[in-house]
Amino acid sequence: MTLAVSIILISAVLAFVLFIRPGAIPPNETLSPTAHLEERREAIHENLRDLNFEYRLGKLSDDDYEKTKLGLHNELAKVMAGIESIAGKKARPAPAAAQPEMKAGPAKPVYRCPACGAGFDKPMKFCGECAAPMGEAQS
Ligand SMILES: [Zn+2]
Repeated sequence: MTLAVSIILISAVLAFVLFIRPGAIPPNETLSPTAHLEERREAIHENLRDLNFEYRLGKLSDDDYEKTKLGLHNELAKVMAGIESIAGKKARPAPAAAQPEMKAGPAKPVYRCPACGAGFDKPMKFCGECAAPMGEAQS
């Protein structure tokens, strides 16, 4: 019963990793999760340039110009905050996730041969390297 459940779970995970993930993630998303925000930022910069241009041509009143400029600046601040929060979230978990795997290696007890010094992870009666008798409690 438990074995069957395990097999179903493993199959589901494998199917997810092999088939669902590559198709589900759009290529732009893997290149840069902030791409759509950077696009938005460029659009706002362009709007600001257009706004300044039209103001200089005298098409806008001072009041309209200030209001529109303030609105665009507020939107730009939101977009910049969005880019920073995505970049910050992406940078933080990576080093934390890498650490446990590196520590897992040398934690095992080592049983050393008193004759040649070879190390084994299980207690043995005779050394696997030089066949000398080994005590059970060597470390
Ligand atoms: Zn030995």
